[in-house]
Amino acid sequence: MSRPNFSRSNSLIRGSGHSLHGTKRSRDSIFRKRRSGGSFKAEEAVFDLILLRNVTEDAVIKNLKTLFFSDVIYSYIGNVVIAVNPFKELPIYDATYVEKYRGRSAFDPKLQPHIFALADNVFNDMKYRGRDQVVIISGESGAGKTESSKKIMQYVAAVSGSTDKVNAVKNKLLNTNPVLEAFGNAKTTRNDNSSRFGKYMDIQFDFHGEPAGGVITTYLLEKARVVRQGEGERNFHIFYQLLASDKAKQLGLTGGASSYRYLNQGGAEKVKGMSDSKWFKDVVKGFDYIGFTKDEQDAVFKAVAAIILLGEIKLTSKDQGAAFQECSDALLSLLGVTRDQLESAVTHNTVIVNKQQVASDLNVDQSQDAIDTLAKAMYDRVFKWVYTRINKSIAADKSAIKAVIGVLDIYGFEIFQHNSFEQFCINYCNEKLQQLFIELTLKTEQDEYLAEGIDWTPVKYFNNKIICDLIEEKPRGIVALLDEESIRPGDKSDTIWLEKLSSTFKSHDHFKGCDGTNETPLDHSRIHETAHPKCIHVHMQGFLDKNTDTLFKDLARVMFQSGNFVLKECFPEGDESTWLGASKRPPTAGKAFVQSMKEMIELLNTKIPSYVRCIKPNHLKAAKKIDEDLVRHQVKYLGLTENVRVRRAGFCFREDKDAFFFRYKLLSPKTYPTWNGSVEDGIAAVFEALAIPPSAYQMGKTKVFIKNPPTVFALEEERDVKL
Ligand code: ADP
Ligand code: MG
Repeated sequence: MSRPNFSRSNSLIRGSGHSLHGTKRSRDSIFRKRRSGGSFKAEEAVFDLILLRNVTEDAVIKNLKTLFFSDVIYSYIGNVVIAVNPFKELPIYDATYVEKYRGRSAFDPKLQPHIFALADNVFNDMKYRGRDQVVIISGESGAGKTESSKKIMQYVAAVSGSTDKVNAVKNKLLNTNPVLEAFGNAKTTRNDNSSRFGKYMDIQFDFHGEPAGGVITTYLLEKARVVRQGEGERNFHIFYQLLASDKAKQLGLTGGASSYRYLNQGGAEKVKGMSDSKWFKDVVKGFDYIGFTKDEQDAVFKAVAAIILLGEIKLTSKDQGAAFQECSDALLSLLGVTRDQLESAVTHNTVIVNKQQVASDLNVDQSQDAIDTLAKAMYDRVFKWVYTRINKSIAADKSAIKAVIGVLDIYGFEIFQHNSFEQFCINYCNEKLQQLFIELTLKTEQDEYLAEGIDWTPVKYFNNKIICDLIEEKPRGIVALLDEESIRPGDKSDTIWLEKLSSTFKSHDHFKGCDGTNETPLDHSRIHETAHPKCIHVHMQGFLDKNTDTLFKDLARVMFQSGNFVLKECFPEGDESTWLGASKRPPTAGKAFVQSMKEMIELLNTKIPSYVRCIKPNHLKAAKKIDEDLVRHQVKYLGLTENVRVRRAGFCFREDKDAFFFRYKLLSPKTYPTWNGSVEDGIAAVFEALAIPPSAYQMGKTKVFIKNPPTVFALEEERDVKL
C-alpha cells in the first residue's frame, strides 16, 4: 500500500518518515527506508522545517546547513520550497530525476525535496484541474532565482508531450532564455549572470494540457548600466557578445571591448567560464527559432552597435553651445541619419511654447548628458521591442488556452551603501511580494479551516502593509508626493521635496526624514524595509530627475527619422506632426512602477501560488561554503521562521478521512481487520488505541486535522511496527 497522498493544498507535512529525531525505533525504521531509498546521509535534519522539534532561527539555519553539506540543497516549509544555491553543478536534474518526480504524489516523503516536486505538482494541478498557477521565486541577487525558473521550465518541457507541434512550441519557449538573458543580464559583483530586469512569464497550455505558447512581461530594466558600470561589472552581455562575433567588423566595431567607453568602465570585459562568441550564436539561433526575420535581427544588432559608438562621440564647445569633434561614419550609417541631424539633436533642446517650437543650445556637459540619455533610452526601448516581438511570435491564440503556469523571477531586496531611485523601486516591489506572501499563506490556511469548520487561533506576524502604504498611498505616500513635486510648475529641487517628505512623515514609525544633522543629512532619508533590521538610507538626491525621466524632443525626433526601422518604431513620440496636438503627459517613472506592481499583484492573485525561496550561502560564489550571518539575514527577511510557526500554529497535517482511516485502521484491534461503524468513529478508535487525546486533532467536514508533528510520528512509527 502506498503512503498517504500528501497533496499540496491539503497537507502541510512532508516526509514524516524523514525526521531523524525521535525514538530508537523510529531511527531504525528511517535508516531502513533510507538505505533502500537512496544515498541521503544528513543526520539530525528534516526535509520539512515544519517537523523541527523546536522552531527557532538557529534550528532553521542548522537544518539548512546540515542538508546543504550533504548536497541536499532543497527543503520544504509545507508547500514552500527553499533552495540554497550550491554554486556547483549537481547531478540532480537529468532525465532520471525527471522520472523520479514525475507523477509522484506531491512532495512524496520517500523522495528528497526537489524543485521538480513543486514543478510536477504545479503541472498536474494545471493539467488535471485546469487551474492557473504561478510560481513566485524570491531571493537576493545571485541566490539562484533564474536558475530555479529554468529548472521549472525544463521540467515542464520534459513531462509534456512530444508531437512535432508541441516540440516546436517548446523550442520557441526555451529559446527565449538565451535571448532575453543576453539583452537583460550582466555581470555584477554579486552574480556573473545577473538579471537586471524583473521577469514574469506565462507558459500557456491548451485543452490537452500541452504547451501552446507563452507571454513575457518585464519590469524595470536597469538602463543606467548602459552608460555606467561599477568596478568589476560589465554592461549587458549582448554588447560583448556582438563584439566577439564575426558581425562586429561589418558593423564598424573594430576595437575590443576594452577600447569602448560604454563597455570598459568596470575593467572586467571577460567573464570566467562564459564564452561571449558561443552565446552570440545561441542568440542568433534563438532569434531564428522564435521567428525573427534576418532584417529584424540586423536592425536590432545595428541598434546595439550604434549604442557602443554613441559612447565614442567627442564634443567641443562652439559659440554658446556644443558641436561634434568626432563622430564616426559607422555610427551614422548604423543609425541611418546624417551627421547634421544627429549633431543638432544632441546639442539642442526644443520645447513647444505657444504652439511654436523653440530650440535652445546645450553646452558640452549638457550635450554629453543628452548622448547618455539617448543611449539609455535606445537600449531600454530596443529591449522592450525585442520581448514584445518575442511575444508576438510565441503567444497562443486566447481561445486555445486552457490554463497557464506563470513564473515570476524578479529582483530581490537590494540594500547598498548608496541606495537610489532604482533600489527604492526594487525594494518596494519586494515589500509588495512579501505582503502577498503573508496574505496568501495565511489566507489559504484560514480558508480551509473555515470550509472545514475547524477552530484555530491566528498567529502574530509582522504585517509590512504599513511600509507599502508609506510608499504607495494616495494622496500622501512617498510616490504621490514625489509626483506632485515632479509635475509642479516652477523651480524644483530635491531639497524642497525632501523637506516636504520630512514634514509629512514626521511621526511615521517607518520613516525618518532628513533634518540636516550629521545623522540624517539633507541628501537622504531612511525607510525601514522588511529586509533590514533598522532603516536603510535612501539617497533621494536625483529622485526628481529619475522620476520625470523625460526624453528631449530632439532625441526622439532623430530616432524617429532613423533609417533603422526598429529604432523608428521605438520612438513614436518623435513624430513632429503630433507635437502640437493635445498631448498627455506620460506617467512618471514612480507612478508607472507603482501601477505595474499593482497589476502584477492582481495578476498573481488570480492564480494558485507556489513559492520558491532562494538562499545565497556566501558572497564568494563558492561551493561547500556557508556564511552563517549571511544565511541568517536571509532567513530573517524571508520570514522563514515565522513561516514555519504560522504553519505549525494551524494544523501540521491534514488528510481525507477515508484515506486516513484506510492507512491507520490496523493500529486498533477495534478497527482491524474488520470495522462496520462510521469512518469518524473508526478514526477516533485509532487515536484512542494510541492514547492520543482528542485535543491533538480535529475532525473537519471531509478531513482529519492533526495539530502537532509528534502525533503523526507516533502514527507512522506504530504503523511501521505493525507492518
Ligand atoms: P539570481 O537569478 O537569483 O540572481 P542565478 O539564478 O542567476 O541567481 O544564479 C547565480 C549563479 O548561481 C548561476 O549562474 C549558477 O552558477 C549558480 N546556481 C544557481 N542555482 C544553481 C543550481 N541549482 N545548481 C547549480 N548552480 C546554481
Ligand atoms: Mg536572475
